[in-house]
Amino acid sequence: MKSRVNIKKALIGILIVAFLAATGYFAGPNPTTRSRQNIRLAQETYTIQYITDGDSLRFSNGAEVRLVGIDAPDFNSDPENAKRARSFLVKMLKGKSVLVMPAAEPMDKYGRNLAYLYIESPKGKNLVNALVVRTGHAYAWHYKPNTEHSAEIMKAQIEAQRERRGIWGKIPRKSSEYFVQRNGRFSITHRPGCKKLGKKRNNTVRFKNRNEALNAFGGSPPCRHCLP
Ligand SMILES: [Zn+2]
Repeated sequence: MKSRVNIKKALIGILIVAFLAATGYFAGPNPTTRSRQNIRLAQETYTIQYITDGDSLRFSNGAEVRLVGIDAPDFNSDPENAKRARSFLVKMLKGKSVLVMPAAEPMDKYGRNLAYLYIESPKGKNLVNALVVRTGHAYAWHYKPNTEHSAEIMKAQIEAQRERRGIWGKIPRKSSEYFVQRNGRFSITHRPGCKKLGKKRNNTVRFKNRNEALNAFGGSPPCRHCLP
């Protein structure tokens, strides 16, 4: 009697495992999604299908792209500016074809293409990455090794600051000082006392002026935690 109960239990167990396997319970992330994200772009023209935010989008072939050299406001920490940045890209790019120039490091750990985009205008080709910064919709971000157009993007940021466009129009609560923390590949601007500022201060530089901090080292965008 006892052994029959055990056989019954074992059979039920096998059936459950078989059912879960059949329904994909043990499979990893959806493989179709994964292969879509990993489409590697060449130096070619592609059509934009969807704008994710002020610095990322998707092409009609499913490839995801992160515009390099810039950092757009984030939907969680700065929703108003994030929405404006996204709308700006939607108006300029949705359904349009752009030329892709893969960056020195062409893909990130999320499977997104890291790239510069060029859009045709009556005056010639425009670097979209710099245009987003020039119009005050994103910050310059010097992020190694993708620094091919850092000088042009920084020039665009200085112009946007001078004209107080977009993100430079409404300045957040002033701090007496700002700290730019350098990582091996990039740097970020913080307010004093931010918990994201590590204890090691040997890689941190102090600034009195907000714009000077944000412009330091080729572009050090604001921390999303302390929003300097
Ligand atoms: Zn911070």
